Amino acid sequence: MSELAKYQMYIGGEWVDPVGGEWFDSFNPYTGQPWARMPRGGEADVDRAVTAADDAFSGGDWPALSPSQRGALLRRLGDLIAENAQSLAEIEVRDNGKLIAEMAAQLSYVPQWYYYFGGLADKIEGAVIPIDKPETFNYTRHEPLGVVAAISPWNSPLLLATWKLAPALAAGNTVVLKPSEFTSASTLEFVKLFEQAGFPPGVVNIITGFGHEAGAALVSHPKVAKVAFTGGEMTGQKVYQAAAVGLKPVTLELGGKSPNIVFDDTAMENAVKGVISGIFAATGQTCIAGSRLLVQNSIHNEFVDRLVDFAATARMGDPQSMDTQVGPVTTLPQMEKILGYIDIAKDEGAECVLGGHRAQRPECGEGWFVEPTVFTGVRNDMRIAREEVFGPVLSVIPFDDEEDAIAIANDNPYGLAAGVWTQSIKRAIEVSNRLQAGTVWVNTYRAVSYLSPFGGYKRSGLGRESGKQAIMDYLQTKSVWISTSDEVPNPFILR
Ligand code: NDP
Repeated sequence: MSELAKYQMYIGGEWVDPVGGEWFDSFNPYTGQPWARMPRGGEADVDRAVTAADDAFSGGDWPALSPSQRGALLRRLGDLIAENAQSLAEIEVRDNGKLIAEMAAQLSYVPQWYYYFGGLADKIEGAVIPIDKPETFNYTRHEPLGVVAAISPWNSPLLLATWKLAPALAAGNTVVLKPSEFTSASTLEFVKLFEQAGFPPGVVNIITGFGHEAGAALVSHPKVAKVAFTGGEMTGQKVYQAAAVGLKPVTLELGGKSPNIVFDDTAMENAVKGVISGIFAATGQTCIAGSRLLVQNSIHNEFVDRLVDFAATARMGDPQSMDTQVGPVTTLPQMEKILGYIDIAKDEGAECVLGGHRAQRPECGEGWFVEPTVFTGVRNDMRIAREEVFGPVLSVIPFDDEEDAIAIANDNPYGLAAGVWTQSIKRAIEVSNRLQAGTVWVNTYRAVSYLSPFGGYKRSGLGRESGKQAIMDYLQTKSVWISTSDEVPNPFILR
């Protein structure tokens, strides 16, 4: 058996072994076999990385760069990502099981975040305040926070790390990034491009390891100034609590149970494709999965029949093949969790009209595959309708009219995204306005851009990533007062 690739962590511009001298296996979900070994970072490694990031923030080449020069570095990085998109995509597919077709497209789009925030770096302007005091000049500056702890999940490691790295660096911070223990390889390959682009040592550092060890130590490190986290709601709560101890600002991008609402005036063929893309693309392992399909009663049976016919044709198999449409689940525990939810739905009385078990097709081999699964007869109070499954499992819930649809859609603790399928522009606007979700798609689904803010309502998170306002989450505002008077007035009176 050939030796597994053994990775190191990237700290202060150097490739280093973990202080504890331990590694763990990273698995290829298509084969179910380990393919690489990842360093098990701990508290001492985190301290080393945060110290390197803090040193790089407070002295040396990074703070000496002008915002325009920082922007130029980010744009150079974007070019390097574009040049290396294919090889990065292949690593992500091996480690994560995402489809090569999706990853190649995603990685050729990722540079846009670095171009956009690179362009924004020198457009963060303070203001001269027309202050109400005589002989006084007052202006504001937006300054970086310091060391940013960035924590990414396993489902889209490079894209979601980018949503943090691009604005954090454009604002002048330094970063310690911890990817998920399940998918660290692509991030460790990716960071080589920062070095090639010319980022000074210590500006970006990568710690790998387990969430409860390396992740927890990173969030609570006293020299971390801000935490940017994407992951599950329960972990998000722990991170929020730990960050509260140091009063660190946080951005939290958490889970969802997004409604995809199909009205009876929809163009049915398009809506079927939109619902499929919402739940079966990326094997349903996306925070924005449209996992609750709300269908108007008048078209319920016809719509479900068409949907099931389409979903039943989805080609499963090797994610490295351009023809594959549904790949494996990324981790073994996640596959077990999904199968557990399928059992829960059956016990709750939902009717399984497609799939409902682990995929045993020859083209799936020993991989961690779950059949695209559709449940009808779901009530919105069932667990399968309330909790995030994070897999290819769709719950179909009928509704009568617009009021009913909105009430069901909003009756959930999450509020990340929603879809609306209708030919009526009036209905599209009115329903979108009333949905409690950070993103609403009308007659489309699963569209994101560096230009448009992304984030959750309710328990789906705090703050926004992407779009102009995202950079402000990585800055703090200073108000500077200058007296032009020749005298200091009565010192015992507030001026
Ligand atoms: P987790 O919450 O399990 O983990 C997210 C990250 O947090 C991982 O890097 C994990 O490390 C780390 N972590 C775990 N425990 C701690 C801790 N105590 N302190 C600090 N860090 C910790 O999420 P998953 O990786 O399972 O990702 C899936 C979840 O992410 C889903 O719920 C999904 O909805 C959400 N998500 C949200 C998105 C959004 O933008 N709203 C986008 C994509 C996903 P380790 O893996 O090593 O445990």
